[in-house]
Amino acid sequence: MSELSTDSGQRSQQSLIVLDRDGVINHDSTAFIKSPHEWIALPGSPEAIKQLNDAGFTVLVATNQSGVGRGLFSRETLEGIHAKMLATVTAAGGHIDGIYYCPHDPDAACDCRKPQPGLLRQIAQEYHCSAADMIIVGDSLRDLEAAWAFGASAILVRTGNGLTTEQGLPADQCVTILDDLTAVAAQLTA
Ligand SMILES: [Mg+2]
Ligand SMILES: [Zn+2]
Repeated sequence: MSELSTDSGQRSQQSLIVLDRDGVINHDSTAFIKSPHEWIALPGSPEAIKQLNDAGFTVLVATNQSGVGRGLFSRETLEGIHAKMLATVTAAGGHIDGIYYCPHDPDAACDCRKPQPGLLRQIAQEYHCSAADMIIVGDSLRDLEAAWAFGASAILVRTGNGLTTEQGLPADQCVTILDDLTAVAAQLTA
């Protein structure tokens, strides 16, 4: 976790990529992803993470997992889902340096459930970086809203909820829109 802070002087800005999980890295489900076998990577997403790693980006995940707070699955099951995600990315030669999640029910009114920026604030503190160092990638408006609330730049992907999100974007906000994580990696490493 100290990699970025030890040699940050040699890195350009925006060296931290914070990915939403469902609909960005893996297929989403309106019924929640409740078990490791329900977690299925989107085509090309593990390889895209490797490409970002190879270009020097630190790749993190920040995800709302209210299924824990709703009692749909336990934290232990969520850890199992994340173990499968990490193994899938590792098998493609890439790595995710950290997974940050909000386990709370929406009614809990916590400050970490996106669109609240709590997870991003936590990442910035742990990596000793500012919002200007971070690029947020998401498929839902709340991912983008968390980025804007924190002052980070945002990329919308058209996977998951992305096409629907694209149609309802506020006109006064700046967001890059790309087809999928493969396109994100291609653009950021070009
Ligand atoms: Mg999502
Ligand atoms: Zn929370």
